[in-house]
Amino acid sequence: MIIDRPPRDEPLPFCRPTIEDDDVAEVVACLRSGWITTGPRAARFEQMVRERVGAPHALAVTSATAGLHLLLAAMGVGPGDEVIVPALTWPSTANVVELLGARTVFADVDPATLQVDPADVARRLGPRTRAVIAVHFAGAPADLDALRAAAGPVPVIEDAAHALGTACRGREVGSDSFAAVFSFHPIKNITTGEGGMVVCRDDALAERIRLLRFHGVRRDAWKRYAHGGSPGYDVEEPGYKHNLPDLLAALGVTQLAKLDRMNAARAERAARYDALLEGFGWIRPIGRAAYPHVHAWHLYVARVDPSSGIGRDELIAALGEQKVGAGLHFPAVHLLSHYRRTYGYAPGSLPSAEAAGEQVVSLPLYPTLTPGDQLDVAAALFRAAPAAAALPQPATVP
Ligand SMILES: *Cc1c(COP(=O)(O)O)cnc(C)c1O
Repeated sequence: MIIDRPPRDEPLPFCRPTIEDDDVAEVVACLRSGWITTGPRAARFEQMVRERVGAPHALAVTSATAGLHLLLAAMGVGPGDEVIVPALTWPSTANVVELLGARTVFADVDPATLQVDPADVARRLGPRTRAVIAVHFAGAPADLDALRAAAGPVPVIEDAAHALGTACRGREVGSDSFAAVFSFHPIKNITTGEGGMVVCRDDALAERIRLLRFHGVRRDAWKRYAHGGSPGYDVEEPGYKHNLPDLLAALGVTQLAKLDRMNAARAERAARYDALLEGFGWIRPIGRAAYPHVHAWHLYVARVDPSSGIGRDELIAALGEQKVGAGLHFPAVHLLSHYRRTYGYAPGSLPSAEAAGEQVVSLPLYPTLTPGDQLDVAAALFRAAPAAAALPQPATVP
C-alpha cells in the first residue's frame, strides 16, 4: 500500500539526464579527435535534426535562448516592434524580445491545457506585431493551425524547447514551421549539457542566422583552419558568438538517436502518474488538448485545486522534506519584476496564466525514474495532505 511506503532515504531528483555508455564514448572520441569546437560533429548533429524533423535548415547553437535571440535578430526585430509571447513560459522567451529593444506583448493561455490561446493572440495583434511566439507547453503542441490562422501574415515562430518529437495533427513540430527552436539543456528530453537548434524553411533567413551565429563572419574556424583552408576573414556585420562546440554536439548525435525510446519511456511514466493521481481529489494532471497530437512528455504538470486549502508552495516544501524534488513551470512571466515595471502589469491582467502560475507543480519525469520512485512520489503527496486525500488505488496502477 502506498500509505505504508517508508519515506525515501535517497533524494529523488526532479530531473536527471539519461547518459549511457554510447554518449560517454562519443564525447571521449571527440576529445581524442583533436577538434572540440564547432566542426564535423555539430554538422552531423544538424544533419540528423534536419532529417528527423523534416526541416530544410537546422542550425546548432549554444542554447534555445541563444537560438530565439538569433532568430529574432535575423528577422530584423528591433525597437518599435512588438512580439506576442505566452505569459506562461520560461522567461527567456520574452527576455530575447526585450534584449533586441522590441516590446513583449503577453497573451493568455487556455485555462485547461495551458497552451497559448489563439483567440487571445488574435486580440493582441497590431500593426507593429512582427512575430507570434508559440510555446509547446510541457511537450504537448500549441494549437498551431489556429495560431497561424489568427496570425495571418505575421510569422508564428515556435519555442519548441519542450517539443522534440511532439506532433500536432500528424505533423511533427519543426516539419512545417516558419521557424522552431529546440533546447538541449539537461532537463529537456535530450541533452548536450547546454545547447539548442534553430530549424527554419527560408534559405535567406537560415543564411542570416548562420552569419549572426558566428561574429558576422561567413567562414567559421572549421572552414578556415581545417583541410588547409586560409585563415582570412571578413565581418559583414557584427554578430554573436552562439555556435555549438563539437564537444557538446557529440552528445547530441548519440542522444538524438535515442529520442523515440526516451520519449516512449516518458509517456509510460506519465500514464503511471495519471493512474496514481486518480485517487487524489485535490491534485490533478492539467488538461489534454482535444486536437490529435503526439505528446513528448517533457514535463508532467499537475495542478493543486485552490479550493482544497492546500497551497502549492507548501506542497512543494512538504515534498522537499520527504526528499522528493518538484518543479514549477511556470510563474506568469508578466508579473516578474522587469515586466511589471516596464509594462505596468498588475495581477488580473492575464488571469489564466496567473492562476496556473500559482497552482501548478511538475513531478519528477525522466526515463530512469522507476515505478517505485513514482509510488514514493504518490506516498509523499499523500503524506503532504493526508486529510484531503483519498487513497490512490494501487490496483489500477500500471
Ligand atoms: C528551457 C526553456 C527555454 C530555454 O532553453 P535554453 O536551452 O536553456 O536556453 C526556452 N523556453 C522554454 C519554454 C524552456 O522551457
